[in-house]
Amino acid sequence: MNRFPSSLPIYDIAILGAGVAGLSAAQILSPFLKGVVIESEKQVGGIAWQLGCKATDRCLYCGVCYGIQLRRDLGDFSSFPFEFILGQQLVSMSERNENYHLSFKNGRSLIAHSILIATGIQPFDARQVPQYGYGSFPHVYTGIEVERNLNSEGIKAFHSYQKIAFIQCVGSRNFKEKRGYCSQVCCRYALRISEDLAFQYPHLQIDMYYMDLQLLGGKKELLAEISKNRVRLIRHMPYRVESSNGKPILVFEDDQKVTRVEYDAVILSIGMTPSPGTKKVANILRVNIDDAGFIKDYGDGTTSQENIFVCGTASGAKDIEKAISDGKRVAQQILSVHRKLQQVTS
Ligand SMILES: Cc1cc2nc3c(=O)[nH]c(=O)nc-3n(C[C@H](O)[C@H](O)[C@H](O)COP(=O)(O)OP(=O)(O)OC[C@H]3O[C@@H](n4cnc5c(N)ncnc54)[C@H](O)[C@@H]3O)c2cc1C
Ligand code: SF4
Ligand code: SF4
Repeated sequence: MNRFPSSLPIYDIAILGAGVAGLSAAQILSPFLKGVVIESEKQVGGIAWQLGCKATDRCLYCGVCYGIQLRRDLGDFSSFPFEFILGQQLVSMSERNENYHLSFKNGRSLIAHSILIATGIQPFDARQVPQYGYGSFPHVYTGIEVERNLNSEGIKAFHSYQKIAFIQCVGSRNFKEKRGYCSQVCCRYALRISEDLAFQYPHLQIDMYYMDLQLLGGKKELLAEISKNRVRLIRHMPYRVESSNGKPILVFEDDQKVTRVEYDAVILSIGMTPSPGTKKVANILRVNIDDAGFIKDYGDGTTSQENIFVCGTASGAKDIEKAISDGKRVAQQILSVHRKLQQVTS
């Protein structure tokens, strides 16, 4: 019989990825199982812990507080029962006797009975849509850039702008590029950023170019109010962005007629794509993925491999609230599988 070296540490569960989904799963599992969390970055929290509060004189219910609350609940991790391995990535997996032997970049190995993939997403790289000029023209920003700066000093340049435009669905809803899915969050964050900017800079004219407005989840009335009062919603997608005298120009093409509209700044509402870590891990663990590269969830976080589970945005676009609840839901499924196994072996 093939055995792993007896000196290797053995865990009930190895969680790959310490974003809000992986952490909330760890929170549920830690009183019951022996576990380890492996995070490729030097810090935990994933993208949710990098996003800014969009409150003006009132809360705009952007969901970032769900991540903040989780951070409070978890504290400084010093007394957290699971082990954390930071700055490491899985490089190989072998399977023996219903256990997984996982090896990491630093040469470290461990054995786990179950694996939870929570390797998340990355913000879409707007340079992949070169016609919108991100990285080439001044005053073309991405939504995440604006979000990350909201909490610090705001984006100071917006003070001098009179007229800005959002372009929705950048990187999403594109079947040709195998990204036909809706990223779920970008209509909502664009409207909340609009409200925040209009609050800071009341003179600002904000136009939003969209093909389909998704006001998902709760607080739809608030978002409808913002879209009515703060932005001009224009159902028309620009063909490309040009730059003239340092100003972005949106170019539209209709029935061979070309129209150009000048702005002081353009914000590209980028969505989500599977993180490079999600793609790598899917390959190493040999789990099925969908056309876009998200890991296929066959129900309750189960994947095409036995005892390998997936949660959060590794299996598809979700907001923070949904990623957290998914992490908890899949953790309950893992617990029920372990309990059944214990009943069989005892
Ligand atoms: C532009 C943008 C704006 C957004 N705005 C909002 C908003 O306003 N409100 C809202 O509710 N949601 C928003 N979201 C969505 C939010 O970011 C996600 O819901 C949340 O981050 C998902 O958490 P997660 O744990 O699934 O994934 P992630 O946050 O991606 O965490 C995954 C973790 O896994 C790690 N990892 C990756 N690969 C590996 C590997 N191979 N091994 C180990 N670890 C690995 C990563 O480093 C990361 O820490 C936004 C997303 C984007 C892209
Ligand atoms: S706007 Fe978002 S981060 Fe700010 S208080 Fe409200 S929910 Fe929390
Ligand atoms: S949330 Fe809005 S901007 Fe984002 S992909 Fe869906 S429809 Fe497009």
